[in-house]
Amino acid sequence: MEKDEGFYAQAHSKILALLPFYKGKTFSSDDICRQLGVQSRPEDVPYRTAINKVLYNIIYINKKPLLKVIGNRYALVERELDTIDFSQPLPEGTEYPILFPEGRDDISSFGFEESVKFFPGDAMVIGGEQNKGKTAWCLNLAVDNCNQYDVTYFSSEFNRVKFEDRMSHFDWGDFRNGTGFKFEIVRRTTDFEDAVAERPDNFCIIDWIKMEDDLYKMGYLIGKIKNKLRGGFLVVSLQKRSYKEVAEGGEGTLDFADLYITLAREKLSVLRVKTPKVNNPEGKIFGFQILNHGSKFSNIREMRLCKNCWGKGVKYQKECEECHNGYVDV
Ligand SMILES: [Zn+2]
Repeated sequence: MEKDEGFYAQAHSKILALLPFYKGKTFSSDDICRQLGVQSRPEDVPYRTAINKVLYNIIYINKKPLLKVIGNRYALVERELDTIDFSQPLPEGTEYPILFPEGRDDISSFGFEESVKFFPGDAMVIGGEQNKGKTAWCLNLAVDNCNQYDVTYFSSEFNRVKFEDRMSHFDWGDFRNGTGFKFEIVRRTTDFEDAVAERPDNFCIIDWIKMEDDLYKMGYLIGKIKNKLRGGFLVVSLQKRSYKEVAEGGEGTLDFADLYITLAREKLSVLRVKTPKVNNPEGKIFGFQILNHGSKFSNIREMRLCKNCWGKGVKYQKECEECHNGYVDV
């Protein structure tokens, strides 16, 4: 019994900490379990029970319920009256347009500028396999956007010499400033929410977040970092295993992303678009190449699954004759 009460107290404090991130959204008890790393294994039953008990209590027993039930999902009871402040003049343009990597020599592009709408405070998540273009993607964003935004690039892997070497291959873009760069380079490996809180109005690029354990907290952590933004934007790059569809941290990493893409070998998949404009790219797959030591994208084109081998790239134990790695150009 005492043990059960321990689970209850733990679940209670963790759920209360999690609730602010569901502001304005609905969620299920499965979502909560996922964010808290509770699975459906037999040993997780006491945690699941505790979580459901906490949810029941804060809905039906609390004098001032914290949650309400909508269908078979939950939502926060919103007591706070958010009175709109009209005292200041409206800032110019509420959208947050971003320039994306594109083919520098062949004018090919992913088209996200036209197809996805962003607002200040939004986040883009990139799940990339090792050495398949995460850093190329992040540095292209920094170079492309440093003339319209204050860009801060957080990296765990560069020192000055390595960074200058990497940037020496960029033969395009207006990003140099004397001996330095038009964007800020910050070395950081942990506590990114504190770092972004220091640059809440910047275009903040985190390349990348490494988590040794408690990977299930990754989604929650992205939410915490995103919450520190004011007028800025967040780019988070995460490691992805080749055999997984989403990045380390699992499905929970999708929750706070306004655009979620994954990068595998010469293949970009669009997993989530929160606010599409025209021609929603969610679910689309693009082929691309990276040239010149990770400085340049090229030959970007939409692709689809090969129907001859159903994306396996192999048929009758031989390389599929109709595709390249299971995909064909659209
Ligand atoms: Zn094929």
